Amino acid sequence: MNILVTGATRGIGKAICRALDGNIYAAGRNENLLKAFQNYCIADLSTPEGIEKLGAYIEDNKIDVLVNNAGEYNYSAAENLVLPDIERLIRVNLEAPLYLISKAVPYMKTQGFGRIVNIGSISGVMGEAGASIYSASKSGLIGMTKALALELAEFGITVNTVNPGWVDTEMGNSSIEDEGFTKEEVLDCIPQKRFVSPSEVAGMVKYLVSEDAKGVTGQSINLCAGLSVGC
Ligand code: NAD
Repeated sequence: MNILVTGATRGIGKAICRALDGNIYAAGRNENLLKAFQNYCIADLSTPEGIEKLGAYIEDNKIDVLVNNAGEYNYSAAENLVLPDIERLIRVNLEAPLYLISKAVPYMKTQGFGRIVNIGSISGVMGEAGASIYSASKSGLIGMTKALALELAEFGITVNTVNPGWVDTEMGNSSIEDEGFTKEEVLDCIPQKRFVSPSEVAGMVKYLVSEDAKGVTGQSINLCAGLSVGC
């Protein structure tokens, strides 16, 4: 099974690459880190050229499983939003996943099998004050997931989105700093009083890719230590 993971070199993406069984095709920006993988593609998903380059790589490599994990975060008050920031975040977090799916689907259809997993965020389910672009981009993944799941159901292709809460990664830690909170303050807001680990997200992805999950499609699954049900 050929598995392509974006944002493969650190955080949640790295844990997903470790957890899944198959040939990993890693995508990222840092060539030194990507060299740890046998198969990789260097592509900056904030540019149309990078997105198209990775799309062509997907077409060339018979990808059975696509994990759209790469993502960026932006913390700005509404009155401070600027067009380049809006465009960048929507491009990396929403446009790139949709385009990459479009390039993966033709081969999956010929096989009558495919698994597409998007890494969303609880901020796309609940909304996050000060993170309107990020919340919008991650909510977009949920709508996209439902539409594609319907469209691709008859071809044996499932499409799902996993929405982590706070995860202990570079992004998790820097977003806490951007918001001006301490880790303790954030923990206090989480019902389970703990961060989700990258390996927990990877375990959910592993399940969604498995034969057992063939009936799970179009879903938006919150893996958030209880955040989605209240504070
Ligand atoms: P991270 O910052 O450690 O990793 C993000 C990965 O995406 C990195 O490998 C990075 O190189 C890649 N990436 C970012 N911008 C890119 C670009 N322009 N082109 C190509 N690759 C790019 O963060 P993480 O926590 O591992 O995040 C993984 C996913 O999980 C993201 O989609 C993020 O939105 C989501 N998420 C994270 C948290 C959290 O608390 N950490 C919570 C909810 C959702």
